[in-house]
Amino acid sequence: MSWSPVADSPLPVRPWQTAVYEQLARQARDESLPQGLILSGPERSAASRFAGALARLLICLDPGTTGPCGQCRSCQLNQAGNHPDYLVVEPDSEERPTIKVDQIRELSAGLTLASQYGGRRVAVIELADWLTIQAANSLLKTLEEPPARVIIVLVAASPERLTATVRSRCRRLTLPLPAIDAAEAWLEMHGRRDAATLLALAGGCPERSITFADEGLADYAPSLAGDILQLLQGRTSAPSLAARWAGTRLATLAFLNEQLLADCLRAKAGGSAAVRLPANDDLVALVTTLPWRVLYEYRDELTALRRAMEQPLNEALTLERLFLGWSRIVGATLSNTG
Ligand SMILES: [Zn+2]
Repeated sequence: MSWSPVADSPLPVRPWQTAVYEQLARQARDESLPQGLILSGPERSAASRFAGALARLLICLDPGTTGPCGQCRSCQLNQAGNHPDYLVVEPDSEERPTIKVDQIRELSAGLTLASQYGGRRVAVIELADWLTIQAANSLLKTLEEPPARVIIVLVAASPERLTATVRSRCRRLTLPLPAIDAAEAWLEMHGRRDAATLLALAGGCPERSITFADEGLADYAPSLAGDILQLLQGRTSAPSLAARWAGTRLATLAFLNEQLLADCLRAKAGGSAAVRLPANDDLVALVTTLPWRVLYEYRDELTALRRAMEQPLNEALTLERLFLGWSRIVGATLSNTG
């Protein structure tokens, strides 16, 4: 990928996404773009932002090689935030994210209308992995016979949760991550301190690093590996850790725990640990002595917990469960060595 790590992109997308964006722009000019796209990325906000940029490009009546013209009637309406040919569907509740069949029926009916300005019509479905089965079946009908010059973009963090029939009607696009040194330079250019630590915690994703930085993660996260180590050594308990970490955003905490465990698994497989937190080396040294089976089981449980956290739940109980898992993998080992 050809971009300088110190210059920001002239395109309306992140520098490391320009190759994907330019390819889509070329296909839009040739009218060879598939009418159904599934867009996923390392972080939802990144994929969502890219989908918005893509929609503005596709609706522009006179796009150039580096993006929408910014001058045409379509671009002006987009800047005002109310283009009738740019439709967005999203869950009506952040608390319980589902997209219902009525929302998809309304969208499909809207897409059969003629374009208001003679260009394309673009629908972006946010959190598309939360389509109900009925909604997915309803969407499938539109994807099978889409109206002319309609593009439907599904933004999905976990595309494998979409039905196989919907997936088969769409081209899948995964946004890339930048190289670590380029990502560090980009974060520093945007005034973020501790870029290396943030990126290690965020799995190399700059957008997630920014979210973490805004949550003050660089200040509080460093004690996490030490806390878990104390728990594994029997010097603290899951309920006390749950109380200590109450108030932290659950999704962030679950993600960090997954990162720490993934790091331990990498080290156990002979790779090098990537997370650089105080006490991380001691944690890795201890956890790598545990059997693969219990580590894999706990990894699956952490993944399930993170997903459950996307639904409303009892926060205190979930926090405790999160830390109890670590206790259990040590318990399972003590009672069943080998
Ligand atoms: Zn334009």
